[in-house]
Amino acid sequence: MDRDKILLTPGPLTTTLRTKLAMLRDWGSWDADFNAVTAGLRRSLLQIVQGTDSHVVVPLQGSGTFSVEAAVATVVPRDGHVLVLDNGAYCKRAARLTTMMGRRCSVLAFDEAQPVSADALDDKLQSDASISHVVLIHCETGAGVLNPLQAVAEVCEKHGKGLIVDAMSSFGALEIDARKTRFDALVAASGKCLEGVPGMGFVFIRKAVLDACAGNSQSLAMDLHDQYVYMEKTTQWRFTPPTHVVVALAEAVRQFEEEGGQPARLERYTANYEVLVQGMAALGFKPFLDPAVQAPIIVTFHAPDHPAYQFKAFYEAAKRHGFILYPGKLTQIETFRVGCIGAIGPDEMRQAVQAVGLAMREMGIPCTD
Ligand SMILES: *Cc1c(COP(=O)(O)O)cnc(C)c1O
Repeated sequence: MDRDKILLTPGPLTTTLRTKLAMLRDWGSWDADFNAVTAGLRRSLLQIVQGTDSHVVVPLQGSGTFSVEAAVATVVPRDGHVLVLDNGAYCKRAARLTTMMGRRCSVLAFDEAQPVSADALDDKLQSDASISHVVLIHCETGAGVLNPLQAVAEVCEKHGKGLIVDAMSSFGALEIDARKTRFDALVAASGKCLEGVPGMGFVFIRKAVLDACAGNSQSLAMDLHDQYVYMEKTTQWRFTPPTHVVVALAEAVRQFEEEGGQPARLERYTANYEVLVQGMAALGFKPFLDPAVQAPIIVTFHAPDHPAYQFKAFYEAAKRHGFILYPGKLTQIETFRVGCIGAIGPDEMRQAVQAVGLAMREMGIPCTD
């Protein structure tokens, strides 16, 4: 069959037909029509975080990691000292890119099954005054843990430290309000909970720190301050924009607004999550995380403890039934992940559970159901 598989991954995600159709046109990067799309998109993004007064938003070409790297390079001075709160794979990636950007980097390590601790951060900032910035991953997509953004932001504010938030897998689905939560930079991307296609990220930068960002970046392409200044001056992107991605994201954001914005999206993803976890439980699958620390974004399940289980075969079988799953990202135990995000609802999740049941049967692994 030529029908697209449903993507139950942390991006790219399943998109609507409207979003896909928006890509069927060519746009000139210098053209006023395209630049109006960029300007409207930036206004909408700022409204999503209530950040119109306090922040600017700077889009950047590339996958989400490009924008995390750009945020660190732009916001942290070259002699800055970054503390990464680490409870998973994306935290480790942030620490690695910080070091590669030539910034001094320290890591405060936590269990990957638990949120990071704002109290531990408080102690750390008390004992090490050299730390200038903190990096937090809002939803650690590795295991699916929700980290305490508000509490971490309050501790950073109390100590007068900068905060860089990777909100890649939470933005649009979980509440983030720039009027309540103080951050210097917050990073997200087109192909996650806004349900656009992958290819660009965007970084909210607090106006109060923007001027001081000039000249921090040692990379030309990653310099968000330069991108911002150029965009304000010319209305254009500095270098070739991903035009089809931009118009698809603008169309996806229109649908996001029509659906009811962030609260509606959270409601749909929560419904997806509940159908998934209940259906999988009936098949005998256990989530890795305590539900109290789980974001309704992506769920890590323990792999079946059966000699016939092999992720590759399981993946292929689920794919034959129309669903693309995701491997686990934990180092110690065998797991797999199922995303709850994208242009899908509880019906697709019920079908996904059925596909998992069929895959198990085909592999000869007994299921409870
Ligand atoms: C998806 C994601 C990223 C970006 O990954 P890319 O593969 O570069 O798009 C970064 N951080 C988190 C938490 C993510 O979920």
